[in-house]
Amino acid sequence: MSPITHGLIGWLTANISRKLTRREMGLITLAGVVPDVDGLGLIVEVLTRNTAHPLLWWTEYHHALHNLGFALLVTAAAFFLSRNRVLTALLAFASFHLHLVGDLVGSRGPDGDQWTIPYLAPFSNAWALSWKYQWELNAWPNFAITGLALAATFWLAYKKGFSVVGLISEKADRAFVQTIRNRFSEK
Ligand SMILES: [Zn+2]
Repeated sequence: MSPITHGLIGWLTANISRKLTRREMGLITLAGVVPDVDGLGLIVEVLTRNTAHPLLWWTEYHHALHNLGFALLVTAAAFFLSRNRVLTALLAFASFHLHLVGDLVGSRGPDGDQWTIPYLAPFSNAWALSWKYQWELNAWPNFAITGLALAATFWLAYKKGFSVVGLISEKADRAFVQTIRNRFSEK
């Protein structure tokens, strides 16, 4: 799934509890996106493609961080960077795993190739997870899920007066919430 969909799902996960600070909600949202940092190798790969020393960082490392080892690292980081430590860590762990589930069900490549999640890495190679009904990255269920997650995000912004936009800019978030409230308020 796209990082945007992962981010929205991570944000919704962070909204499960009312006790969390914005920073803690940010950590949980980030935990839902961060497995895809292994995809940044694509930039390096494209840039070096026609050079004497092409670096195949994407081909070799994409999905290298979609595993339990990295999940535990991210969970520990969430624990130490928050005040509501246990709750933030638990939701960060859940958020990370929702990312894995999302990729498992909806990230088949355009050429139909399917990748597996080496879930127990780096501890063991025992489980390589895949789902034979996995749909393609640009298939309709992904658009439906993104649409639903967006609708929920809008609704939460309307109700709570802040949104995922605030993780990037408080000012942009105020404008965003105002727009939604103006648009949907009963007259
Ligand atoms: Zn992913």
